[in-house]
Amino acid sequence: MKIGEVFINKGEKKKFKTGQIRGVAFCGKNEGKALLITAGVHGGEYVGIETAMRLINELETNKMFGNVVICPVLNTDGFYNGVKQISTIDGKNLNREFPGNENGTISQKIAFDIEKYLYPIADFIVDLHGGDINEKLTPIIFFPYASGEDIKIYVRDIASRMSVDFRVGSYAENGLYSYATKKGIPAMLYERGAHGMWSEEDVLTEKEDMYKLMEILGIIKEGYDIDINLNQREITKAEYEQADSDGCWYPYFTNGDEIKKGELLGVLKSIDGEIIQRVEAKFDASVLYYTLSLGVRKNDTLMAYGCEKTNHLTKF
Ligand SMILES: [Zn+2]
Repeated sequence: MKIGEVFINKGEKKKFKTGQIRGVAFCGKNEGKALLITAGVHGGEYVGIETAMRLINELETNKMFGNVVICPVLNTDGFYNGVKQISTIDGKNLNREFPGNENGTISQKIAFDIEKYLYPIADFIVDLHGGDINEKLTPIIFFPYASGEDIKIYVRDIASRMSVDFRVGSYAENGLYSYATKKGIPAMLYERGAHGMWSEEDVLTEKEDMYKLMEILGIIKEGYDIDINLNQREITKAEYEQADSDGCWYPYFTNGDEIKKGELLGVLKSIDGEIIQRVEAKFDASVLYYTLSLGVRKNDTLMAYGCEKTNHLTKF
């Protein structure tokens, strides 16, 4: 396997740094597919970052049929500075900067290098996220709606075997996983944990899902349970309520709550206490995630909710 100018021989585990990217590559002793695991696109989403680092310590190339490449912290500035969603160097959200720009800002350069060096080596990409420092979230996978029927069906099937509560079809196009699917690479965005916290339980569950993913792809043959998760629900219609202006946010529901059309989900107040926005549910739904922080900026997502179609589990 070759990443940029770095060669990794069969049976080898090797650290690499190429362009703006650091990671560890595992080249299996036997031939097979290649899985790319990325984390830390958002530096405050710790469960994915910790999971990726644990996998780096555990994987054994002599048991692998194919390759695994792990990049545990792509936005190092955001990670070390403990900021939500952005790099403090350019103020940009890396997950909105695809395709990148070789001569652009730091986030655009990272996006460029991911496309240049990592996309070509991957048969499947999982990008690990979570609720951010200011959010609370139910574990969820986003899979692509906008990249053709074949990729959608393939990724949806894999998502349905993971232990998250919801899978959500997404029309996003300019993030790490969504842009990859536009380039023909099956990919999904996996979210677990939130609020600037991580727990052993969340990391172990997420790590097991990564092993399941490797089992599904044939990279490991350890007998993980890869049956469809019948408790998982598919969200086919989602709404992301945003702040009309800067203000103080008072949510009335939490993630996992069931809400009814017309119900008041929360209010936004100015700092002199006046209600400046009332957020009402547009349809009956489940709350997927919401913002916890009191202070919010204009266009911040205040609450995300979605509903499922009735006949949601098809085996294919
Ligand atoms: Zn994120």
